[in-house]
Amino acid sequence: MSATGSDPSRRPVDLPDLSREAVPGEKVALAPGQLQLRPTRRGKAPSHLADLTLAERRAAVVEMGLPAFRANQLSKHYFDHATTDPDDLTDIPKDLRATLVERFFPPLLELVSMQAADHGATQKMLWRLFDGSLVESVLMRYTGRVTLCISSEAGCGMNCPFCATGQMGLTRNLSAAEILEQVRIANAKLAAGEVPAQEGENPVTRVSNIVFMGMGEPLANYRPVATVCKRLNAPSPEGFGMSARSITVSTVGLAPAVRKLIKEEIPVTLAVSLHAPDDALRDELVPINTRFDVDEILSAAHEYFQATGRRVSIEYALIRDINDQAHRAQLLADRLIAKGGTGWVHVNPIPLNPVKGSKWTASDPFVERRFVETLRAAGIRATIRDTRGSDIDGACGQLAAEVLESDAHRADREARVARVEAIATQDS
Ligand code: SAH
Repeated sequence: MSATGSDPSRRPVDLPDLSREAVPGEKVALAPGQLQLRPTRRGKAPSHLADLTLAERRAAVVEMGLPAFRANQLSKHYFDHATTDPDDLTDIPKDLRATLVERFFPPLLELVSMQAADHGATQKMLWRLFDGSLVESVLMRYTGRVTLCISSEAGCGMNCPFCATGQMGLTRNLSAAEILEQVRIANAKLAAGEVPAQEGENPVTRVSNIVFMGMGEPLANYRPVATVCKRLNAPSPEGFGMSARSITVSTVGLAPAVRKLIKEEIPVTLAVSLHAPDDALRDELVPINTRFDVDEILSAAHEYFQATGRRVSIEYALIRDINDQAHRAQLLADRLIAKGGTGWVHVNPIPLNPVKGSKWTASDPFVERRFVETLRAAGIRATIRDTRGSDIDGACGQLAAEVLESDAHRADREARVARVEAIATQDS
């Protein structure tokens, strides 16, 4: 295999579009390698203030026969004070509040359950959407900052075999407001002191970092996700006023959508879930690789760095004896360097979190260290990513509201595991 070109020994591309087999509204389980490009549910969430630009909100208010400044007031309540409660809208006449709340703040997320770990510093929330779809978000408090991991889709069609969400299939894309509500509610929790700081620490009252690492493939739900990023970044009263560096979009590698982010100047930091430096293994671990291979996605990622100056993160879940060999670390370094030297990326190896129904486990700590040291010796920045919430199934790859798997699919999946293991070891 050449360091940068594609591997001629790859399996032929065979990716039936499973959405044709799926019954609308039914859950599906994807067979190995199958991608699901269309959701099974098509319903649209009610329109919400956060879906609209400030100009559109002002126009909508005027259409209701009210002065445009009411839109600014509502926007400040939403983005600055994290509230949609009519009682909090004290600068708006009492008789208008109910009408405005009904029009602009329809309830989009209903809390089903909340689980805490790390003495309350990690909290996983399960939400029911208007049509019964379920999604999760995970809030993580660190010293002086709070990261919120948000979902962009109910389920996911990308079918990575080591990820619990990937086993669900794609139920529905979320609207921009359904995604932004996860952030607004987390801000309300923080402001209410529901995520207590450790002794001697100042409480953090707002989410400081957003990662699109919950359920879903954000770039497969491009338009709403791009809107969300703009809204997260725009200053109040247009949006939350967060910096582009504190918003991370993580993708399996939809290269054309990465290029669209560049062209539209969407203010985010990019993370690419690579997990293997060679196409033979990546075809199995991240099935979309058969459409956009390692070379293609690294090209798009490097273009992203050149256009934005923001260093790209490479996500790499270390799976014991599958993708954690020193020769794969070396190949990864070689391919990154061939693309643009050492300065443009940062590799984030993460110990695999266990997923129900999978026998794959995290690499040995010794192997993990060797992987990182091999990258560093080649001049590539690498840090093991902190993993949180695995005891509440709230860690990376563990979010799955409902999983349905038929016996046939289980047999297919087990066959794939055997194939992956053969590929993983053949060239060591
Ligand atoms: N679809 C997007 C974002 C969601 S997943 C993506 O794939 O990037 C967020 C991160 O968790 C990704 O890097 C994903 O590959 C990783 N991940 C998935 N399953 C995992 C697991 N079992 N253990 C550790 N990381 C996992």
